[in-house]
Amino acid sequence: MEIKNVTILGAGVLGSQIAWQTAFHGFRVTVYDIDDKALDAAREKHKGYASYFKANYGATDEDIQNTFGRLTYTIDLAEAVKEADITSESVPEVLEIKKDFYKKLASVAPEKTIFTTNSSLMVPSQYAAETGRPGRFLAMHFANPIWEANIAEIMGHPGTDKNIFDEVVNFARAIGMVPIPLFKEQSGYVINTLLSPLLGAAGNLYFNGVADYKTIDKTWIISTGAKSGPFGIMDLVGMQTMYHVMMLKAKQSGDASALKRAEAIKTNFIDKGKMGISSGEGFYKYPHPEYQSPDFFK
Ligand code: NAD
Repeated sequence: MEIKNVTILGAGVLGSQIAWQTAFHGFRVTVYDIDDKALDAAREKHKGYASYFKANYGATDEDIQNTFGRLTYTIDLAEAVKEADITSESVPEVLEIKKDFYKKLASVAPEKTIFTTNSSLMVPSQYAAETGRPGRFLAMHFANPIWEANIAEIMGHPGTDKNIFDEVVNFARAIGMVPIPLFKEQSGYVINTLLSPLLGAAGNLYFNGVADYKTIDKTWIISTGAKSGPFGIMDLVGMQTMYHVMMLKAKQSGDASALKRAEAIKTNFIDKGKMGISSGEGFYKYPHPEYQSPDFFK
């Protein structure tokens, strides 16, 4: 099947980026969200991405005009998906919301439509039944911001049709992503399965007073050639997400040290407005963090 029409379901932080990136790469994109306020916010973000693409990716006025020409916005779900070949869902990361949403979507979407979810913490089998088309349902997971961290992790559940999986891998490539196919369900996909123990180990070294965070980052950067160390990565992920992940860990494992760390993140960062790179400060100050300066390594 040739994919032409794409529908983005939920146009918040990630959905609005996926919509823009997909339209920029030549697909007709319909953006759906629950109310006009959310759609207005997405439109505003798209204006910002337009300037960013002109400044950073050499996009011409014509490219930008064409991209806007391929974007439409609606709060009517049936209207949003009536011609959809594929959907990319980025509604909130709450199982009940996802389940309810897929039941509604299944009742209005054409049979041909492939459903993809951008869920970070859940796996597709947790709500495959609600989609009414488990064979045409799988995860296509992006990283933030999607044009810089341009991987798309493609992960089916045991009932996903192999041909559909391959079509989604090709689609990801067509919108400028590097596809990362996973052969089985894995909570955290590849990237978070790798990152989670690294950030956890860095936190242990720091909170147990073994070394300060700059020394830990320095060690990692010099030894691996990476552009940033674990605490720089935490700034990129953002303190709100770090807090959320720590709280989840504390709840799931009853681990008192995870709760203590979550509280430390809240007091030392979130309550002070230091949200990470997005707010200009986390462990480091942006846009010119110390670890990008040669002096950091003296
Ligand atoms: P967000 O809160 O910015 O956006 C969610 C959007 O969904 C909002 O625009 C909201 O109006 C809309 N919404 C709320 N309830 C809805 C409903 N019942 N039906 C339809 N739409 C509804 O969230 P986000 O950060 O974009 O995350 C969305 C999804 O993307 C989550 O599953 C998250 O795990 C995943 N994700 C997020 C990131 C990230 O860095 N933020 C990265 C990868 C994946």
